[in-house]
Amino acid sequence: MPVRIYEIARKLGLESKVVLAKAKELGITTAKVPASTLDKITAEYLEQHLPHPETTAPAPVEPPKEEMAPLEALKLVTEAPSAEAAQGAETEAPPPEVEPTETAPAEPAPAPEVQAEPAPAAVVVAPPAETVTATTPPAAPAVVEAAPAAAAPAPPQAPPPAEVAPPTAISVETPAPAPAVVEPPATPVPAAAVTAPPPPTAAAPAPAAPPAPPPPPPAPPPPPKPQIGEKVGFVDLKKLGFGRPAAKPAPPPRPEKEKEKEKEKPARKPEPPRAAPASRAPVVVAPANAPVITMKPPIIVRDLAEKMNRRPFQIIADLMESGVFATVNQAIDEAVATRICAKHGFRFELERRDRSKAVHPVVRKAPDVDPEDKPQDLKPRPPVVTIMGHVDHGKTTLLDVIRKSNVAAGEAGGITQHIGAYTISFPHPEDRKRIQQITFLDTPGHAAFSAMRARGANVTDIVVLVVAANDGVMPQTLEALNHAQAAKVPIIVAINKCDHPNANPLKVRQQLNDKGLVPDDWGGNTIYVECSALTGKGVDKLLEMILLQADLLDLKANPNRPASGNVIESGLEPGGPTATVLVRKGTLKVGQVILCGQYFGKVRALINEDGQRLKEAGPSHAVKVLGLNGVPEAGLAFQVVKDEKEAREAAEKVAMENRARAQEVRQVMTLENLMDKLKATNEKVLRVVVKADTQGSVEAIVEALKRIESTKVSLEIVHSAVGTISENDVVLAAAAKAVILGFHTRVDSEAAEAAKREGVQIKLYAIIYELIDQVRDAMAGLLEPIIKETVIGAAEVRKVFTLSKGGNVAGCMVMHGRVARGKARVVRRRNVIYEGIISSLRRFQDEVNEVRAGMECGIRLDGFNDFQENDTIECYILEKVAQKLE
Ligand code: GDP
Repeated sequence: MPVRIYEIARKLGLESKVVLAKAKELGITTAKVPASTLDKITAEYLEQHLPHPETTAPAPVEPPKEEMAPLEALKLVTEAPSAEAAQGAETEAPPPEVEPTETAPAEPAPAPEVQAEPAPAAVVVAPPAETVTATTPPAAPAVVEAAPAAAAPAPPQAPPPAEVAPPTAISVETPAPAPAVVEPPATPVPAAAVTAPPPPTAAAPAPAAPPAPPPPPPAPPPPPKPQIGEKVGFVDLKKLGFGRPAAKPAPPPRPEKEKEKEKEKPARKPEPPRAAPASRAPVVVAPANAPVITMKPPIIVRDLAEKMNRRPFQIIADLMESGVFATVNQAIDEAVATRICAKHGFRFELERRDRSKAVHPVVRKAPDVDPEDKPQDLKPRPPVVTIMGHVDHGKTTLLDVIRKSNVAAGEAGGITQHIGAYTISFPHPEDRKRIQQITFLDTPGHAAFSAMRARGANVTDIVVLVVAANDGVMPQTLEALNHAQAAKVPIIVAINKCDHPNANPLKVRQQLNDKGLVPDDWGGNTIYVECSALTGKGVDKLLEMILLQADLLDLKANPNRPASGNVIESGLEPGGPTATVLVRKGTLKVGQVILCGQYFGKVRALINEDGQRLKEAGPSHAVKVLGLNGVPEAGLAFQVVKDEKEAREAAEKVAMENRARAQEVRQVMTLENLMDKLKATNEKVLRVVVKADTQGSVEAIVEALKRIESTKVSLEIVHSAVGTISENDVVLAAAAKAVILGFHTRVDSEAAEAAKREGVQIKLYAIIYELIDQVRDAMAGLLEPIIKETVIGAAEVRKVFTLSKGGNVAGCMVMHGRVARGKARVVRRRNVIYEGIISSLRRFQDEVNEVRAGMECGIRLDGFNDFQENDTIECYILEKVAQKLE
């Protein structure tokens, strides 16, 4: 009977994270999350090493001091599930230092998981590498703490932890993807890699050595006899020399083969563990001597592009390729920046604002721990959860059921209203008397999630990815997954509709496993919960898992400071503008003045989802605010300011900036007016985004477009893909100043809105030739028209008259064509002797506009009097003629 970590925790009255920490310390690699399962023997072994209620000092809730260290390690692991995710996994995982094959044969590792394995080491190892600068004992805590974490999830083939993390590779590695932390279920003692010689510098210093196991087993821990099909994975870090002389505890019996391998290892590895060059980090690696781009966070796409001397849209296209959707004004994270830089032959280095901080791995990217707040001011806060998934998979139903799971005594009077978020209270699975809160954003779907993110509002702590068991993984499931991973938010999978006759939860696990979300009961660290929003079954379990996951995130905020947070919804109601804000830190109170972009106001009322008026709202709580002087858009940050004067000044400044920006970017880019636009910039390039119904069409169009490329104007296909025209396409086109061409496809509503907003033209075609022709015309339109001269007629000077008031008139005969007022030149013996304008054209006494061939006339030229008989006066016009593409 497998036992779950949280069950052990509950049994012993401990927190799951304490149990996990101990498990890590003991090298139980299968213990990754509270829901991880252990076989009975391993569980007993673990229990033996945990403080028992009757034997231990009271209050097991606060982990003993030395336990704090592994908690640090835990945080690292937490970072893992938070999933920089698959996208990172592919590119960022460092290649294992040890050839995988060396240990692999010993492992019956399941094939599909193998490819993801190198990463885990990186995940957990990298942070300690940040300590590299400090190779002396002070660095030890972090190193030592991290080490267990490193060792624990280290898969059989993973490289020895400390060796993996090259100091400079940190930036790339740190957020290495969780999915990669793959623990092949049936791996007996995957220690080979981990048991490699302890990295001397990293491991040796051990002032804050890993917590000593309470009842120190004199003999090596009872080697768990792997049962058939069981997940066993012990690595005793002390045996590895982490924190203790390597030789002390006798090594547990291990397969002969492995021992040999271990012996071999030092011999084969002459290089010092730290010698690993930075360049070993991502798959796309910049050469060691590549120019370095250094930036301070936040890494804004536009700034990065500028530093790389690339156009922002090129970077956006690269980002899209790797599944990261960002606009020019958005920030990307370090790992992504590193990858993009590597692709362009640069090395990326994040300029850390405070180097000393790097010693302690940062748990989350979100600014949960505000630098201004002192640690002692930080108090636990509820997790903020977003539910995402494919349409019709049950997100809304689930949100409704969850809302009803609230155990807090329902206060009478209020009418439940949709304000964009709600908070429920639910008993903690480890201690049912402890009532915890969870805040759900109830605008399901990744569009809202990303719209928020697009405005820099990463407010979600945990994403619940809903997948209908009868339907399996669908396109929007993957999209949601990408969005969640891009946001580096831990994912809990809710396999919904398990009541359905065609439910196949296993298939969902398999499908998502392939995408890097390895189920915890398969040795991974993604929690899967089977549920039915319809019957309510499993929903409690889901909530418990959210609470356990939240525990690991160690979410904190200082409630005693002026509030700040983000708008999650807004609208105009009869009473005036309203905005639902999610308080992220501080406490928002009625009567305070808040500033929100270009709007501000004194908070008149705070209303919760039950329609109740509140006096205040603390961290992770959402409230509808009345009192703003305008409707701020979702995602905007808000903050409490001193008074209305300060708010007004700040708001005006923002409004001014907004107006300036609007003028700059909102110019509509259309095929028709491209000419004017681009002429100004002297750019002779037409940029297009191509979307079509099938891959075949995409290719055909791209091919045809390439063929019309001319020597005078170039055509740049910024992006081409199959599918409907989405908001992301528009974002990309806006950044690239491109036109979107759709063939047999449609525009989704968000895209249409975005196009209007961003001023991007979308053209839809049903006939390829039409598309090509229009593009050709547009390209031609980019060319300067040719000025063509046409001679319209000529007259011969027969006699020159001098006028009494001065000046000469040429008495002429029009020889051919017509002579008209306008441009003319005087040709004498085939030489042009003057060019100018006819100032007077007379026939007899009358001023006329033109005189036809065979007629006489008098011509005066502006600024020329020197006519001679037999001169020819040639009249011509200049015409602009559109150039043809060549
Ligand atoms: P959303 O588009 O993801 O928000 O999906 P909805 O919550 O609107 O659900 C879509 C349909 O699936 C509705 O008809 C629900 O009644 C149904 N549904 C939702 N959850 C379940 C479930 O657990 N089991 C079954 N059988 N149907 C469900």
